[in-house]
Amino acid sequence: GYQRVVKENRKLYNIVQDLKGNIRVYCRIRPTFNAESKGVVDFIGEDGSLVIVDPAKPQRDPEKVFNFNNVYGPTATQEEVFKDVQPLIRSVMDGYNVCIFAYGQTGSGKTHTMCGPSGGSMKDRGMNYLALNDLFHISCKRKDVMGYDFHVQMVEIYNEQVRDLLAEDSSGTKYPFIRTCTSNGGLSLPDATMYPVTSTGDALNFMKLGEMNRVVSSTALNNQSSRSHSILTVHVQGKDKSGSILRSCLHLVDLAGSERVERSEVTGDRLKEAQHINKSLSCLGDVITALAQKNSHIPYRNSKLTQLLQDSLGGRAKTVMFAHVSPEADSYGETISTLKFARRVSSVELGTARLNKESSEVRELREQVESLKRALARKE
Ligand code: ADP
Ligand code: MG
Repeated sequence: GYQRVVKENRKLYNIVQDLKGNIRVYCRIRPTFNAESKGVVDFIGEDGSLVIVDPAKPQRDPEKVFNFNNVYGPTATQEEVFKDVQPLIRSVMDGYNVCIFAYGQTGSGKTHTMCGPSGGSMKDRGMNYLALNDLFHISCKRKDVMGYDFHVQMVEIYNEQVRDLLAEDSSGTKYPFIRTCTSNGGLSLPDATMYPVTSTGDALNFMKLGEMNRVVSSTALNNQSSRSHSILTVHVQGKDKSGSILRSCLHLVDLAGSERVERSEVTGDRLKEAQHINKSLSCLGDVITALAQKNSHIPYRNSKLTQLLQDSLGGRAKTVMFAHVSPEADSYGETISTLKFARRVSSVELGTARLNKESSEVRELREQVESLKRALARKE
């Protein structure tokens, strides 16, 4: 009896997951820096809805109502946010490629979500740490049936050039650019330094080295602003008793700030940076949208970022985007632009037609699970 409940429940779960598609979009709102004034967040629903208002013109506008897979308010903990991602970590261990993106304007909390608070405190550690920890945990639990190996790479994309963040710098030279970028065989950057890791602590040390090497420059918005995309990749290889091998990778991507050029009041090098960032972020949006719409042509080759992640975007791969929001009134414009980007890449709305068609099957399964549970309870 119990086995059947588990099995039917699983079937239901899989159908629901399948209907949701392989692209999930979440929104995270950070705590406000300005407690005195009213911010832009009007309402957060438990079902993933979000209503934004312009504090200068506070009437409700149906255009400013958004729906995501989930919305995390300012009090959400790192663990709560990670819980939604956890099933995908299991997928990585089962052989699926997964990309996790942090998107949003500078100062909206991207690095907080991925790495945790600056200074590397042990408390509130971010997605990178929690994900790696989980990979090693699952590996340990499966050690009797599967032997796993892990390797890490870390690169950044700055002005459409890829740099190796883990290369040794013994000669005092800059962290090298990488030219070879392929998309076959799963390893898109064969020339980027790759280190084996056997524990979360190992991986953390490489992450620290990579973070130190990130190009950081100042803009009018934030003097610690990251103007490059950073990509931490964990390559997983699993071997079972029969000798068959499974390969996959997990990409943890802290994207460059999405703020528009005018806002940053930039010229020269800063302007060039901003233009590269805008272009690559809109290419990423185009690729994810094309995948969600199941287009026959996916424009991977329009940016280094999508080119590099080609094998992990689309097909069987799974994608998660966290859209980060700064709740202060003066961020209203950027917040709307972030949420519109997130709405565009979200398959939730695009998937509604399919959801309706198949909902009778879901309902039937749900009823079956409930009645099996009742029957089981009667027996005990
Ligand atoms: P970004 O990487 O998008 O530029 P940061 O992650 O650096 O933004 O966040 C900006 C500031 O806000 C940092 O001081 C960070 O510690 C803080 N912060 C961001 N998100 C949160 C959060 N959810 N809880 C507490 N502090 C946060
Ligand atoms: Mg950052």
